[in-house]
Amino acid sequence: MASESLKTLRMVVPGFKFFEDTLWHALEWMRMKVNGVCADMEAWQIVLLSAALLLLAQWLWEFFWCGEGGIAKLKKGTFRMARKIPYVKRQIAAEVSKTAHSMRQGFAKDLKPGMSFVRRLPTRGHSSAEVCALAEEYKSMDTVEINRGRASGTLYNGGEELTDLNARIYKMFAWTNPLHSEVFPDIRKMEAEVVKMCLTMFNGGPESCGTMTSGGTESIMLACKAFRDRAVNRGISRPEMVIPRSAHAAFEKACQTFNILARIVHADSITMKVDVRQMEKLINKNTCMLVGSAPDFPMGMIDPIEDIAKLGIKYDIPVHVDACLGGFLIAFMEKAGFPLPLFDFRIPGVSSISCDTHKYGFAPKGSSVILYANNELRRYQFYIITDWPGGIYATPTLGGSRPGAIIAACWATMMYFGEEGYIRSTADIINTTRYIRDSLREIPGLFVYGEPLVSVVTVGSLDFDIFRLKSGLEELGWNLNALQFPSSIHLCCTLLHTKPGIADEFISDVRRCTAKIMANPAEKASGMAAMYGMSQTIPDRSLVGELVMEFLDALYDTSYSASMSNGHTQ
Ligand SMILES: *Cc1c(COP(=O)(O)O)cnc(C)c1O
Repeated sequence: MASESLKTLRMVVPGFKFFEDTLWHALEWMRMKVNGVCADMEAWQIVLLSAALLLLAQWLWEFFWCGEGGIAKLKKGTFRMARKIPYVKRQIAAEVSKTAHSMRQGFAKDLKPGMSFVRRLPTRGHSSAEVCALAEEYKSMDTVEINRGRASGTLYNGGEELTDLNARIYKMFAWTNPLHSEVFPDIRKMEAEVVKMCLTMFNGGPESCGTMTSGGTESIMLACKAFRDRAVNRGISRPEMVIPRSAHAAFEKACQTFNILARIVHADSITMKVDVRQMEKLINKNTCMLVGSAPDFPMGMIDPIEDIAKLGIKYDIPVHVDACLGGFLIAFMEKAGFPLPLFDFRIPGVSSISCDTHKYGFAPKGSSVILYANNELRRYQFYIITDWPGGIYATPTLGGSRPGAIIAACWATMMYFGEEGYIRSTADIINTTRYIRDSLREIPGLFVYGEPLVSVVTVGSLDFDIFRLKSGLEELGWNLNALQFPSSIHLCCTLLHTKPGIADEFISDVRRCTAKIMANPAEKASGMAAMYGMSQTIPDRSLVGELVMEFLDALYDTSYSASMSNGHTQ
């Protein structure tokens, strides 16, 4: 059979005979070479050499084709070596310690004169009046007026009646814990109802289900854990996920935590939405989930969820929709008069949705939901241990004990607003965002990225360093988010920005700042603005990481005092 087809090939393919001869010659040459090398070797040497070569080949294969790829690994390795050079090491250490010092100086500025850190338990407990008076002092440290809509995102509602309601509910359920589900049937019922109300918002079918979590990050991490375990259950030993570059950092946090490889798809440079064709190219037999955001955090774009879901069905891979940020907007936009492409369980292939009740759901911080299309998927999220001496133990989420009062407050907030309340807030927020979006487009020197449909407006500039605008606005009391790759800043509109006059104040401040910068567009940024720009140009990302480590350390530092901000150290 084989020789028959060889004969045919020789006849019909021109040059095949030549190709065949060359191949035979090459093989013959190799045979001679190998024999030559092994001629003087003993059998055990040949066996060892073969084994070593096999290992080397395997190592090369892993190095270049597995994980993040050979080039990235070579780059990292080079940086690691360069940093071992004593001179480089000293320079970096000096730079890191300078940064660390200036971070602490920045924090010291927040301390009131004479303020210091509590470093041990007070010997005698304070009266509750004393504690409250002390807490008032701490409260006076806040500088950004989030209550006046000066911050991007951060505070989503802040209504006084809502605050009072939440305080009352918190008091009622302060000591509850859903871990003891038989002790607290009230919290059990409330959690189930919050999940079910959200499933209804996202058109979940009769099989759909979910759990509450402590926030968007936990919701996302749980979905990743569930889909990793589903993949492992199917014999995949190195699970990978394909995520848009714009997807929330929580996905890569999950990758690190649960040992999943992240394959990153870049956005289309015009629409700023994920390029689904590129996404398909990164799918392989190890892919355990695909992700789309609705909308994403950086630029507020809704990825083409329907197209991603089609890939999910084609390759039998779960698709997660991250609606953490805008879930409580997009679910009501249609009814508020702003049509959107489909994004929820109405699309076959959408396996899970994360949605933060503590963002536009207006619930206090510490609550979110993770929703699944069916219970088979949710079961991969659960944790069960049957043989623990502490008893048969099972938890639906990452935590053990959980704050029942936060669940109750979330439930109360959703009951308080109702569908009509959320439709109204959605209409206000979307109208305001679009007003801001269209007004910013008119300002010379600025441009708005893509076509944002939800609550985030991202601006950049071709004429000047956009972080100078962030600094300029900071001086006027506005706190916007700095984004990178590309350099840009965004405003995430909340209910506070819909208050009369706020949007206009913002637009006129941006116009004023931009005009001032445009008078001298080439000027270099300074201070924090320079930091944002500079950090993107450092090729050794581990160095950037090290500087940020210093920041996290500084958060917990209690060794500095108010006087440090004047240049003195203790
Ligand atoms: C806020 C956010 C998250 C994560 O939520 P946390 O509650 O901060 O953990 C996830 N995805 C998007 C798009 C978000 O905006």
